[in-house]
Amino acid sequence: MKADLNVLPLSSWIETNGKPLMIAGPCSAETEDQFLETSRQIAAEGYAHVLRAGVWKPRTRPGSFEGIGEEALPWLQKAKAETGLKTACEVATPEHVELALKYDVDVLWIGARTTVNPFNVQAIADSLKGVDVPVLIKNPVNPDLALWVGAFERIHRAGINKLGAIHRGFSNAQEQKYRNSPMWQIAVEFKTYFPHIPMIGDPSHMAGKRSLLKELTQRSMDLNYDGLIIESHRNPDEAWSDAAQQLTPKALGEMLKEIEFRKETYSSDFQSELDRLRGRLDNLDRELLEVLAARMNIVEQLGEHKRDNNVAVLQLDRWKNVHTSRVEWGNSLNLYGETVEELFKLIHMESIRKQTEVMNSQPA
Ligand code: PEP
Ligand code: MN
Repeated sequence: MKADLNVLPLSSWIETNGKPLMIAGPCSAETEDQFLETSRQIAAEGYAHVLRAGVWKPRTRPGSFEGIGEEALPWLQKAKAETGLKTACEVATPEHVELALKYDVDVLWIGARTTVNPFNVQAIADSLKGVDVPVLIKNPVNPDLALWVGAFERIHRAGINKLGAIHRGFSNAQEQKYRNSPMWQIAVEFKTYFPHIPMIGDPSHMAGKRSLLKELTQRSMDLNYDGLIIESHRNPDEAWSDAAQQLTPKALGEMLKEIEFRKETYSSDFQSELDRLRGRLDNLDRELLEVLAARMNIVEQLGEHKRDNNVAVLQLDRWKNVHTSRVEWGNSLNLYGETVEELFKLIHMESIRKQTEVMNSQPA
């Protein structure tokens, strides 16, 4: 993937004094009183740089609360004037962009249900031409890195270079714990392609419930994310959207106090221990690959043996046995069963591919 987007650092559009960017506010602006009171409480806690509010809500089913719309935008202006904090809202159409800018919203974000659709992203990009506003782009609903990157390219081509990514997790039918599977590896991959694009964690939409917010916030900080966007409502249980995942401004402050924030500078002792341990990992990874290569060599011989005796590649009983025994061995070595299972699925698939190749070749 090409990584040539010219994106400005966070510090070019917001002062956080070296701390992670903190965006907090209700899922939705519901009433003037609800939004202003929530904003005042957030400002009084002192952790936030930006107030968030959903003004237009993309809802899965019609008939749910779909946001107040334009009427809510003056509330954001009032909150900004009172608290001195910047404001942010989601935009999903060119009309939303036009209105948000008309009411001086400082930061726009593109929601997960919009990032999935290149037509919508392009329409938003077209409406942003000639505008200088920071835009945060949430990951698409489905785990597709290219779609996320494509949205960045479209908005960037429109001339926006104050950009940030929001990692809010992915829809996944197999997921049981989280509302949206974090799939951290996708965001980490994004960071390796675009190290200069700020990454902001959205534990609220990953979690779906309050009890999981802390671990997800900690994980985002452990991965060196540049900021957080967390939903906060003066009365979470009464919220018109996403009630189960919101925290009061005070509870959010208390949670943030329990988070370990990464250190900005390392001592030389720390660095040399880091280098030593990483060196050991490098060696072990090389050995791991050598073992894998030796295994493939045997697999190839096995393929030849099956071919010469006209036996099918896949024998289900054998595979079931491999599968259970490896998970057991892994468990006895204190390895996580699911990981061992996934690993051997991959190894097995590669073995089948190799053997099929051998089966279809002529004996030497
Ligand atoms: C939101 O931030 O309130 C929202 C709708 O999030 P997402 O686009 O991540 O679903
Ligand atoms: Mn929400």
